[in-house]
Amino acid sequence: MGKLIDGKKFADILCKKISKEVAKLKSKNITPGLAVVRVGEDPASTVYVNMKAKRTEEVGMHSVTKILDENTSEEDLLKIVGKLNNDDSINGILVQLPLPKQINEDSVINSINPDKDVDGFHAINTGKLWSNIDSLVPCTPLGCKMLLLDELKDLTGKKAIIVGRSNIVGKPMASLLIGENCTVTIAHSKTKNLEEEVKKSDVVVAAVGVPEMVKGSWLKPGATVIDVGINRIEKDGKNKLVGDVEFQEAEKIAGAITPVPGGVGPMTIACLLHNTLIATCRKNGLEIPKFV
Ligand code: NAP
Repeated sequence: MGKLIDGKKFADILCKKISKEVAKLKSKNITPGLAVVRVGEDPASTVYVNMKAKRTEEVGMHSVTKILDENTSEEDLLKIVGKLNNDDSINGILVQLPLPKQINEDSVINSINPDKDVDGFHAINTGKLWSNIDSLVPCTPLGCKMLLLDELKDLTGKKAIIVGRSNIVGKPMASLLIGENCTVTIAHSKTKNLEEEVKKSDVVVAAVGVPEMVKGSWLKPGATVIDVGINRIEKDGKNKLVGDVEFQEAEKIAGAITPVPGGVGPMTIACLLHNTLIATCRKNGLEIPKFV
């Protein structure tokens, strides 16, 4: 059986380290502030936004949550982001995705001050990430990288495959793994012979959004598997949360694997707080704490 990579435990430890850094900042009269904006009543977004606010307060940061009506116009949302951009008590801004149809997500993301873009989705931060310039890095891939480094210590020369090429997970993950000297393959829905590609890989990151799509039998024995997927399915008459990897079979072949839930999920929020702390330190010209 492969080792379970305990993302919850790692995230708890990271949050404790962040809260120590927040306490140091507060002793200098600096309180990091994170604003989260939700538009509409999407149930998953409601849960995520509430969890983010709770965790933000737990580490001692200033938390602002703005909840807007489903029918909010793009213009009104842009005005709110503009106000947060100009608010000195706010160091990080996150607009929860997805947004209702009348709002263009790219316009909103790119209206956030890149220095406060703690989701790391702004085109400037994307460009910086691919150019090896210090930037705010998307939280989920950053969390995956932290778990991989903790597990493998050095990724140099590893063959890694990322299944999924989204802007928020797959592509930034590829950039981060190239930065760790991996040889990276990015697979997607048009990839031929996915099974063969996965079989060659020492590291597998699955970010597909299809329940249990990556089969255990596809894995190279001993591979390290990071399952980003969060899929709600009905199994044996019960609602269940499963990843993009067929966990029960995969854990027999993998060297180490993240469970769902309790793997990547908790790391995403911890990395959001990490990014808010970094944004605060940069704004105040302070040294950036290193956690990994
Ligand atoms: P997305 O934007 O829908 O992208 C999915 C990617 O998977 C696309 O690149 C798509 O290829 C590829 N794909 C779909 N079917 C495939 C197939 N049969 N074979 C190979 N590739 C296939 O999804 P996302 O936002 O990246 O999210 C992926 C998963 O991660 C979801 O389950 C999501 O809920 C989860 N997630 C979790 C967290 C967390 O905090 N743990 C954060 C974000 C997302 P094409 O580009 O060709 O369409």
